[in-house]
Amino acid sequence: MGLNAAIAAKESNPALKVVVIEKGVVLMGASLRNAGFACFGSPSELIDDLKTRSAEQVFKLVEKRWKGLLALRSLIGDKAMEYEGLGGYELFDTEDSFKESVEAIAGFNKEISAITGEKETYRVTDEKINQFGFKGFSHMLENRCEGQLNTGKMIRALISKAAEADVILMNGLEVKDFKEEQDGVLISTSWQSFKAKHILFTTNAYTSQLLKDVEVKPARAQVLITAPIEGLKMKGAFHYDKGYYYFRNVGQRVLFGGGRNLDFEGETTTELETTDKIQSALEKMLSEKIIPGIHYKVEHRWSGIMGLGVGDKSPIVKTISPRVHCAVRLGGMGVAIGTLVGQEAAAMVLQQL
Ligand SMILES: Cc1cc2nc3c(=O)[nH]c(=O)nc-3n(C[C@H](O)[C@H](O)[C@H](O)COP(=O)(O)OP(=O)(O)OC[C@H]3O[C@@H](n4cnc5c(N)ncnc54)[C@H](O)[C@@H]3O)c2cc1C
Repeated sequence: MGLNAAIAAKESNPALKVVVIEKGVVLMGASLRNAGFACFGSPSELIDDLKTRSAEQVFKLVEKRWKGLLALRSLIGDKAMEYEGLGGYELFDTEDSFKESVEAIAGFNKEISAITGEKETYRVTDEKINQFGFKGFSHMLENRCEGQLNTGKMIRALISKAAEADVILMNGLEVKDFKEEQDGVLISTSWQSFKAKHILFTTNAYTSQLLKDVEVKPARAQVLITAPIEGLKMKGAFHYDKGYYYFRNVGQRVLFGGGRNLDFEGETTTELETTDKIQSALEKMLSEKIIPGIHYKVEHRWSGIMGLGVGDKSPIVKTISPRVHCAVRLGGMGVAIGTLVGQEAAAMVLQQL
């Protein structure tokens, strides 16, 4: 978000001096640790959202995710971030949840065709369950418009874009405090203090450490990736159990994340750790349902911290006081909406310069 907003600000006004401050030597945030799904909503996720929000709100967010992905792809280019439109899939192992989703897809396709231009975004593809080598799933829905990308390469490209635009990047520097003054904001960091005309907080899950009244709840998500598996059959991005589990192929590897629902309390944290409880649940599902009967080795495990709302999935983009602004709470969809929301945030700040 910070890089996207900085690039957009410099594109609008090249004379501005824009500095991005990051506490990690490399980015410590979710942006470098996520699963790389370029997604805008699975049927069960939309059904869930419609229980608490109006159809207009739900499809507006779908549109934002879709347009956000187009904005990201146009900014970086598919090749630089290895974007692949391999499709997305939602898997079901109970008839009830499948029935509810399959009954909803005709209506969803109608709504979403106006957004994606695709007549049949979602469709039943049960025949691919065996083709992909899964076991224990009875049904599968395909989303033809979903894709996946290499998160590390996306960030590398954003850093290059920012540097090309003459954005100053300062890593390994933590903002400790700030004080709004008449003519600017005094920013105290772990190194020294700076004065800026305006500050835009893009601190996502860590926001409440500096902005007490902005409600963003940290939510850790854990992931693992296998070593390459010869003859891996699955291709695409997969969602299961209302999105609590997600996996995709990365070439011949499987990247698998989720399981936060096994320990909501323990995972409400900013600690970048993995736990046996969740990692062993991921491995069990991997062995039994996703690549059953196949020998694999887990090569890496990691976690990242998302910033969630309480009962609200929308990001917060607002001016808090004349020179202090924020663009935070990207939930589990920052890859999709980050570029667009970054552009909105930059425009908001620029209007007030
Ligand atoms: C495991 C995992 C999987 C995910 N999968 C997907 C996915 O497949 N698709 C998708 O769309 N989204 C996914 N997400 C969500 C997505 O990664 C986030 O929504 C997005 O990265 C948020 O971007 P951001 O820039 O707002 O926050 P972040 O990337 O978290 O950046 C905030 C930055 O602020 C820095 N910071 C915080 N406090 C300070 C301070 N005081 N001083 C200086 N720097 C500070 C942090 O170090 C951090 O780098 C996933 C998230 C996780 C954790």
